[in-house]
Amino acid sequence: MKLDTKAMRHLTAEDWRVLAAVETGTKTHELVPTTIIERLSRLRGGVSGVHRSISALAKTGLIGRIKEAKYDGYRLTYGGMDYLALHTYAAQDAVYSVGNRIGVGKESDIMVVADNAGVQRVLKIHRLGRISFRTVRANRDYLRKSRQGQGGTWMYLSRLAAMKEYAFMKALRDEGFVVPEPIAQNRHTILMALVDAFPLRQISEVGDPAALYAELIGIILRLAKHGLIHGDFNEFNILLKEERTPANEAEDGPDAEEQIRVTPVLIDFPQMVSTEHPNAEFYFDRDVACIKRFFERRFHFVSTAPGPFFKDAKKTVGANGARRLDAAVEASGFTKKMLKDLEAAIREQQAQRPEGGEGEYSEPDDDDDDDEEEEDDDDDQEQDDDEHGQNGNGAEDIEQTVGDHSS
Ligand code: ADP
Ligand code: MG
Repeated sequence: MKLDTKAMRHLTAEDWRVLAAVETGTKTHELVPTTIIERLSRLRGGVSGVHRSISALAKTGLIGRIKEAKYDGYRLTYGGMDYLALHTYAAQDAVYSVGNRIGVGKESDIMVVADNAGVQRVLKIHRLGRISFRTVRANRDYLRKSRQGQGGTWMYLSRLAAMKEYAFMKALRDEGFVVPEPIAQNRHTILMALVDAFPLRQISEVGDPAALYAELIGIILRLAKHGLIHGDFNEFNILLKEERTPANEAEDGPDAEEQIRVTPVLIDFPQMVSTEHPNAEFYFDRDVACIKRFFERRFHFVSTAPGPFFKDAKKTVGANGARRLDAAVEASGFTKKMLKDLEAAIREQQAQRPEGGEGEYSEPDDDDDDDEEEEDDDDDQEQDDDEHGQNGNGAEDIEQTVGDHSS
């Protein structure tokens, strides 16, 4: 599904309260009964106001009606959760308008947004469960058992992904790694600085492949020192930022040339694992192999040095007082169970990708409506959402204001 903020301006303060009530109700009810929504939204206008809002929200696709044997009820959709997150950012003056989607991955939507001062930022919206899962039965069964309720599970996991990614982005930046500046996190989304750079994937030539290769391997090793493995270290998740230094004729003579320095910026952290993980060596080797393969194919560069090898990297964990970021993040409120849930979900998602992560990320595409509903894989709930016409009309170049609603 796409983020379309057009309907935001038309929502009344009551509608927002009812939407928030459905979200709250979702914590205890997979299907939130109308009576609970009435109670949680506590509108002054009484029950009829709640019903009016419910129908407006259902029409816009922000909540979905589900008919069940025992009772009818509503659930929050990804669209509804997007709106609640944007509403929060708008109230914090963190986001004022939503611009282009700069891409759609299998696991996320990446939007350029702007704050009140017009400063552009990136909003990453996690969308686990967007594609339907037919493989890796074990993970699927694990996830089913882990929490009841399909839709709820994926939304919960998307929140976890955003929380984990944000925690790592902050920890890495604090340690001096070059990553986008994390600005805020809400629900299943992260707000971060826009990096003016292209993914390595789109770069056809670099001045010194050997130096860049060494720098990237250096990042893998430095992560390991802090107890971490990126787990998806590939040409899509490394942005190459160019910094130009004007020629310094005074110091370097009349023929001095402009210096261009490229700095790799690492992104995409929900799948990071600890060097203590049972499959740590596999993830480490895969990260190294991805870079080797890419450099060979794209730049015809093959390193003469073997490795690096996990067993050597493992010895450096915590060396010279390097802070253990794996432990730091685990200590920041993630339970083992949460991390395990998330890992199973991400493993499934990655299993859907073509070989080697290629095609992980596709260019923005205006009519990808095949992924319209997020949780209608093979369960048998009947959803009354055929009216929700808010998705998929490709109006992506129009900047939409979200920060001017009155509530
Ligand atoms: P996914 O989990 O779907 O792979 P990523 O975090 O890797 O999402 O982001 C997908 C793409 O969006 C990146 O390859 C990059 O082109 C772009 N992108 C993500 N974050 C930023 C950012 N902060 N600044 C600029 N571009 C970004
Ligand atoms: Mg990525």
